[in-house]
Amino acid sequence: MEAQRSFYINNWTFLPFSVYITVMQFDLHVHTTLSPCSQLKLDQILSQAPERGLDGVCITDHNSMDIRRYVKEGFLGNGLCVVFGMEYSTSRGDFLIFGPFEELPPGLPAQLLLKHVERSGGVAIAAHPFRSQRPTDESLIKNEMCRIVEGVNGRNAHHENESVLGWQKKYNIRQVGGSDAHSLEELGSVKTAFTTPIHSRTDLIRALKQDSFLQTSYSSLAA
Ligand SMILES: [Zn+2]
Ligand SMILES: [Zn+2]
Repeated sequence: MEAQRSFYINNWTFLPFSVYITVMQFDLHVHTTLSPCSQLKLDQILSQAPERGLDGVCITDHNSMDIRRYVKEGFLGNGLCVVFGMEYSTSRGDFLIFGPFEELPPGLPAQLLLKHVERSGGVAIAAHPFRSQRPTDESLIKNEMCRIVEGVNGRNAHHENESVLGWQKKYNIRQVGGSDAHSLEELGSVKTAFTTPIHSRTDLIRALKQDSFLQTSYSSLAA
């Protein structure tokens, strides 16, 4: 636990080997106006993300990857890397999913969804697992159907982020963070630092599967 804290006091200077590693800061959870609940416009994301210290942004609209119709994926002229995924809602929780697909049929049960993502070579992140609305069903984590969880969600109450620490003690999970931005003010409020270069969706999926990131947990932020 202490080691994780030291990571987050300062990603750059407190680790003797940090000069040798690449750190790319990503916001893994961002909604555009394609999500009915979001006011955050795509052009605001693209222009403002670098100013907020972001090297990359994952567009994760609710149950939709239609963003692909409006912007090219990958590196943009301003150096920002844009990756498409989606936040898929199920009765057993919401999942940020990234994989070699551009759309999925709606209404898949969680277990089927997670199996499909895994078999296709993709990766799933349990979003805001302890939020009072649409929490993650713990049995999915216990049964290792989903190994990566959102340890910090920018829209969660403190206690909702803190509760994930209980899972960290019980299960072999890894924690990432995302803003869950629905407005410009929220963009980049929570970031995940990757220790490998990410230029594409494929790179992001590989980095998530290989744990090439620093854990973002409630304790790391509170340190
Ligand atoms: Zn929403
Ligand atoms: Zn969301």
